[in-house]
Amino acid sequence: MEGSSKRRFNTLAVRGSGRAVDTTFHAHRTPVYQTSTFVFSSPEEAARRFAGEEGPIYSRLSNPTVDAVEERIALLEGAETGIAFASGLAAVHALVMSRTFPGANLVVQSPVYGGTWALLEKITPHLGLELRTFRASEVDRLSDLVDGRTAWVLLEIPANPTLDVVDLERVVEVAHKRGIPVAVDSTFATPYHFRPLSWGADVVIHSATKYLGGHGDLIGGLLAGSHELLDPVRDLHVSTGGTMSPWNAYLLLRGMRTLHVRMPRHSENAWRVTDVLRRHPAVKRVYYPDQDPLAQKYFENGFSGMVSFVVQGGDEAAFRLMRALRLILLSVSLGDGDSLITHPASTTHAKVPEEIRIRSGILPGFLRLSVGLEDAADIVEDLLQALAASQEPHATGLNA
Ligand SMILES: *Cc1c(COP(=O)(O)O)cnc(C)c1O
Repeated sequence: MEGSSKRRFNTLAVRGSGRAVDTTFHAHRTPVYQTSTFVFSSPEEAARRFAGEEGPIYSRLSNPTVDAVEERIALLEGAETGIAFASGLAAVHALVMSRTFPGANLVVQSPVYGGTWALLEKITPHLGLELRTFRASEVDRLSDLVDGRTAWVLLEIPANPTLDVVDLERVVEVAHKRGIPVAVDSTFATPYHFRPLSWGADVVIHSATKYLGGHGDLIGGLLAGSHELLDPVRDLHVSTGGTMSPWNAYLLLRGMRTLHVRMPRHSENAWRVTDVLRRHPAVKRVYYPDQDPLAQKYFENGFSGMVSFVVQGGDEAAFRLMRALRLILLSVSLGDGDSLITHPASTTHAKVPEEIRIRSGILPGFLRLSVGLEDAADIVEDLLQALAASQEPHATGLNA
């Protein structure tokens, strides 16, 4: 479509580039190309496809439904290209591997999503790789951490589960001075609220499992960035085979088409919940980026749907709160239409030593809430009755 890159975000989310995928029947929706292989009409055509001149060969290498997802994330992030993976962690893995060599180091923000940290800790001994960490508030230390052997600076904005927002422009300045690329996992923000490439980042990482998919029915990962950085990643990706299935690509495309409709409601509901939590006597502390000057600078149209808070009375009170909930579901993951709550210290961050948890702000009584798309009044009502129950140590936890 001529001039599609000038179209606005909401139009790009719904319509993409407008490129027709099914040129035989002109199906309106991108079909699910649920096929392992593609048939060549002649040996010459096979040779041309292998030379990269035309058409798909085999679905580990490329698939038209998956290609459509890759094109859509590149458009939404303002990137040259995108790559789809079987999961967010498959994306992180391929990204790290693409620039790693024995003796290299990775400079990683801490805390990050527990699965990302576990992955990095597991692969580093095999690769002879060193992990160097810094907190969002310690950007000043960064120039001492990066050197000629740094493969990537990896950030998470906002970070899980404390919703820290690191000063991306300052990180980019320090890293680029040494020629080191910066990758930002912005799963929590989505390109609707935050576009890291426009602030100088080199690659954006998404767990598409979360807001981009948006319906809690798929696992997927995406990268967006330049050909220079992502072509080597794609090369590794097709060889290691952590590719997204055509069916998941179809579901993900379906989710991405409404991202700009869902995110304002997630943000609005999260703001309503935050407002109530901040004024509630049973709540010690609330983590939501709306009052953070860096988030105000980098984010657009709101601050997404993730809210963390610390309930008075520690973990026992947090458990009482969770037992009393009637609408909000006890589950990990996020970005679903259903509101989901997690107690990180006993689940996602259970393996992180307690003193490190506390230093990162995961205090006793800490809960992470993915605010869904239900009526905000119902979410608030459920939280209010559960907060009341959390402060009654002798309650049975039954819906008395
Ligand atoms: C869920 C998540 C991941 C991992 O993604 P998967 O799709 O579960 O592999 C990475 N980063 C963040 C911030 C996440 O929330």
